[in-house]
Amino acid sequence: MTYLGATPVLVDSEPDTWNIDPELLEKTIVDRKAKTGKYPKAIVPVALYGMPYKADRIMEIANKYGIPVVEDAAEGFGSRYKGQMLGTFGKYGVLSFNGNKMITTSGGGALITEDEEHWREIMMYATQYRESYPYYQHEKIGYNYRMSNICAGIGRGQMTVVNDHLAHHKHVQKMYEELLKDVKGITVHSQPNNGDYDSNYWLCTITIDEDVKIKGQEDAYKTIVTGAVGGAAGVIHAAESAHTDCEPNANVEAMRVALDKAQIEARPVWKPMHKQPCYKDVPAYVNGVSEALFKVGMCLPAGPYVSDDDVRYIVDTIKANIIG
Ligand SMILES: *Cc1c(COP(=O)(O)O)cnc(C)c1O
Repeated sequence: MTYLGATPVLVDSEPDTWNIDPELLEKTIVDRKAKTGKYPKAIVPVALYGMPYKADRIMEIANKYGIPVVEDAAEGFGSRYKGQMLGTFGKYGVLSFNGNKMITTSGGGALITEDEEHWREIMMYATQYRESYPYYQHEKIGYNYRMSNICAGIGRGQMTVVNDHLAHHKHVQKMYEELLKDVKGITVHSQPNNGDYDSNYWLCTITIDEDVKIKGQEDAYKTIVTGAVGGAAGVIHAAESAHTDCEPNANVEAMRVALDKAQIEARPVWKPMHKQPCYKDVPAYVNGVSEALFKVGMCLPAGPYVSDDDVRYIVDTIKANIIG
C-alpha cells in the first residue's frame, strides 16, 4: 500500500481473535469519510497466526459502504471461518508461500479472485505489462512479481503435504493447550469455542501475565540484542538502545532468553503497526488491545519438525523458568 502511494489507516484488534475489530473498523470508515470526504479504498483483514477474522461481519460492513476487501490470508492458508476457506470471502485473497508459512515455494505467494477480467489485468502487471508482440512492448509500467517455474514446482510438491502440515499445527496447538492448562498466569491463545472458527494454528501463541515471575527477569533488556530477528546476509543495523517505546514486559523477554538458551526459538508476538516508527504518522484507530497483547504475548515453535517430545521439552522449559 505504501509502495503505491496509498496511506494505510490502521484499525486495532479485538480481544478474542486478535484480528481487526469489526466495530472499530466501521467507526474508522465513518470517521475517515467525515475527516477526508472519502471512504477508504480497501479493507485488508489479516488472519493473525492463522486465526480467522470475523469474515461475515467484515464483509457486511464492506458491502454496506461499498469498499472492496483484500484478505491478507498469508498466515491463514487452510483456515476456515464458518466452514469457508479464508481468502475466498473478499474480492481478492492473498496467500504467502514464504519460507516460514504453512507451505512454501521458498518465496512468493498466490492471489485468489473470482474476477477473471481483474485476474488478467493483475497478471499483466505481475509480468512487466508485456504486450503480445515479437519484441517487448509496454503500454504501462508493470512489476516483475510473477512466480518462477522452479518456485511453482516446489509449490506443487508442497501441496501434497499441506493437509499433513495443517493437521500437525493443530496437533501441536492441542498439546500446548493440554500441557499448559494448569500453569497459572500462562494462557494459550485458542480460537473462540463457538464452532465458527477453524484456525490452522500456523503459530501457537501464549500470553504471560505481568505478575508471573520468570528467572533472570531483573536482567531482561540489560544487553542490546544483535540479530534476533533483523538482518539479512549478515547485515544488521546495530540497535541504539535495548528499549523501544513499546516492548514486551520484562518477564516475557526473560522467558524468550531462557528458551533461547535451551535452543528453543520463541518470539514476541508481532508489534502493533501503529507502534512501528515507519508508520508513526499514519492515522490509527486504537483501543489498546494490540498494545496490551504485545506486552504479554509470545510465539512458540509449531513447524512441521516440532515433535511431540519437542513440545514436552518446550513446556517443561517454560515451567522450569517460572519462579512464581
Ligand atoms: C508473511 C506475511 C506477509 C508477506 O508475505 P511474503 O510472501 O513474505 O511477502 C504478509 N502478511 C502477513 C500477515 C504475513 O504473515
